[in-house]
This record gives sequence, C-alpha cells and structure tokens, in this order.
Amino acid sequence: MFSIEDCIIQLATPVSSPGSRSSALSTTNCEEKKGEGGRVHFMNPYVNKTSVYKGSKILRAARSQRVKAQSTRATQLYHNLLKIAGKSWGVPLIHRRTLYKTVTERVLAHGAVAWCLEPTVRIARKLSTIQRPFLLAISGAYRTTSTAALQVILGIPPLHLQLQREARGTALFRLRLPLSTNVSDIDPSEIEEKATGWSTHPSEHLSPTQISLDDGGNINTGLRIYTDGSKTERGAEILALLKAVEHAVSLPTQQLTILVDNQASINSAANPKSHNSIARKIFKLLHGHPHIRVSWIKAHVGYIGNEEADRLAKETAETENFPKTPLELPKSFIKTFLRQKMLATWQMAWDDGDTGRLIHNIIPKVSLHPINWTRNEVLFFTGHGPLPSFLHRFNLAETSFCSCGGIGTPIHYATVCLLTTSYHMAPPSQQHQPIWFRRVANNSTSRRKIHNLLHFLQREASLFRPDPN
Ligand SMILES: [Zn+2]
Repeated sequence: MFSIEDCIIQLATPVSSPGSRSSALSTTNCEEKKGEGGRVHFMNPYVNKTSVYKGSKILRAARSQRVKAQSTRATQLYHNLLKIAGKSWGVPLIHRRTLYKTVTERVLAHGAVAWCLEPTVRIARKLSTIQRPFLLAISGAYRTTSTAALQVILGIPPLHLQLQREARGTALFRLRLPLSTNVSDIDPSEIEEKATGWSTHPSEHLSPTQISLDDGGNINTGLRIYTDGSKTERGAEILALLKAVEHAVSLPTQQLTILVDNQASINSAANPKSHNSIARKIFKLLHGHPHIRVSWIKAHVGYIGNEEADRLAKETAETENFPKTPLELPKSFIKTFLRQKMLATWQMAWDDGDTGRLIHNIIPKVSLHPINWTRNEVLFFTGHGPLPSFLHRFNLAETSFCSCGGIGTPIHYATVCLLTTSYHMAPPSQQHQPIWFRRVANNSTSRRKIHNLLHFLQREASLFRPDPN
C-alpha cells in the first residue's frame, strides 16, 4: 500500500527540475523527527522556502504536489488535443471525447489510489480546473458555460469522482484493501480472483457425450441428479453444479447423469480455459470421473425432476435462515457497484448544484453516455451562444435587445423573431418554457432546426445587432 513514506519519496522527486539543486527532504530525516513533536523540516522546489509541516500535513502537501504535477501534464496534453482538433474543430466531437477518455484521463489517473481515494474539496476543485479546458475543447462551448452542464452533456463525470472510482477499484482488486466503511463493507478477500496459471493441457478435454448441451429430458436410465440455483444469488447455478458433481463423485460408480437447466454453467464447466475457479474445479472432477455425465435440460416444460429442483431452490431462497454459501463476488459485480456509487454522487451534486440549471431542466439524469448534440445545439440549450441576451450579460454587447425590438434570448429566435421566421417553432406560454426546451431537445427534427438557426445567427450576426442610431 502507499504510505506516507511513499508519498514523501514522490514529493522528493522533482517532476521537472526548474534549476533546482536537489530537494533536501529525505525519509530518514522524517523518521527521526516524527517522534519529537511530529514536526518535520524539508525543502522542496515547489515550496520555495523551508517550510514546517506538522504530521498529517505532509500527506496533504504530497497530494497537492501530485495534483500540481498532473496539472502540468494535463496542460501539455491539452495543447496536443488542440493541435489535433484544430481551430475549425475538424475532428468530430465524439472522437475528441474518445481521445480525452483514452489518453488524457488515463494519464491523469496515474497512481490515483495514492492521492485520490478520499479527495478533499481542494483536490476536487483543482481537478475540476484541470478538466474544464478539455470539456470546453471537446464540446466547443463558450468559455462561460458551467462545468457541471458540460460534464452532463458530454457524459464525462467530474474528474475527482472518476479518479476516486478508479482508486477504489485498485484498492480492492490489486492492493486487496477494504474501503472505508461508509462506502462499502465489501471484504477484499471475498472478491473472486481470476484463476491463473496453466489451464488444462489441450489433450485433456471432456467428450461431447460426457457434457452435452442437447436436451437431456428423455434420459431415463441410471441415477439422475437435478440441480438448480437461486436466480437471485449470483453464481449460484454454477456452484449448484459443483455441489452435484462433488456428491456424484462420493457415490459408488454407476451410470449417472446430472441435469442442469442453465447453459452458461455447462459452457464454462466444459471450457478447459475458463478463468472461473469453480468451473475449473468441475472440469477436473469430471475429467477424473468419466462415468459422470452432465446434460442440459429444458426448464419449465414439465420434467418432474427439474420442476422439483426449481421449487426447492425457490423455497429455500425464501426461508429466513437460508444457509449462506460463501460465494465469491465476481469482479464485474464490484465494478458495477463502484460505477453506481460514482453516478449516485454525481447525480446528487448535479441536483443540488446552482450552475447549469437550464441544462438540468433538459437532462435531469446524469449518465456516462454523451448527449449527441452538435456544437450549435450546445450553444442554444446552454444559452451561452451568439445571442444578444448572453453577450449583454457578459458585457460583450451594449444591449440585450435584438434589432427587431424583442429581447434576444434563445427562445426569441426560435419562436417569434421577425428575422428568423423560417426557423420558427410553436411558442410556449410563459410558464411552459421549461417543458418547451425539454420537448425541443428530445425531438430530432426540432434539434435540426435549432442547429440551422444557430448557423444562420452566426453567419448573419450583424443583422441582429440593433442600429446604434
Ligand atoms: Zn428578433
């Protein structure tokens, strides 16, 4: 695990060397002084002067150094992105987004577990500053557009939440450390480990007669064992198959068939290269006991054995003291959990935020998928576009009036302005404006109109400027 010492070592390593001789901090130095009052003296090219830090402050300082280094890297990446995207935004939005997700975010996430497991407000703010230029470059929105709105439009979560999610994943899967109890009580030892090492030799395989996907409902000789796993418990089906095979092995050798109504467990048990440790166990047992046969059986078509197994599984799952088998949690389950945790935090911030409310009205629910708006649509719906109402608000125009006499708001141009009649849509009543925006945003024909309207506004900008006289 990353400890204070690790951070200090990182801190002591100058990211770039702006003429620094050397940073005078050494770990031994810290160790010695920690005992006496917890004060450490160190010098760092980024602190500029010898500073005194108390115990935990070291960690905080190390973290902020880390964020600073990430920030430098991000600036370089940003300029590279601009080079690729070009001034005319030749690269489509969706590819710019992919570039960000696959390159920039990966670089920024480096070592997140050491510094972003519990990001402080300061770190969150700093990361937001790092992310913002990318959001602007990807969407092509005006510089005044709120970060929160851009995140929701592009389906890119706030950077500190994304990094925290990855840090949590690393902590659980790689470092096998539990998360703080208010996040989750998942015990890392309960997480399924991918079965590694050599799988079975290719010459060792199960014959199609021993494990078959043909309906075994008509098998009526020998001993038949039916299995069923509760549908509510993950991985129960394959565990049921393992229990059945283990039981069959303990019986005296005889003609014996295990009937399973779940194709997925048969497939993984028959696959000698499966990464599932339970499937590997089943394969080994079956290979060592060729008299045990496994066959698929069609469910819910009246095979008495299968129906009975199904009934028993349901009955057991409903009882209060249903014996909990120590099932390993699949990795995918934890990943989904972490993603949902992140989305919930993001959603809460989006609902409680005070910026980007126009967009909140249109897109109330956050998602990891981008809303496929063109740049013009973004300009219209955020209200931050080539519109007198916006320009006046930010002191870029003398008046918020359109040359036709009305106030130059987005809705003015889309519904009533005399100069844009060919782009008009039915105007809403005053109290129905939020609904109108939602309806327009969800209708592709209306959005097309908006796109063309904005194009027209940009091309004929001078037409909408009121005559100064
Ligand atoms: Zn007008």
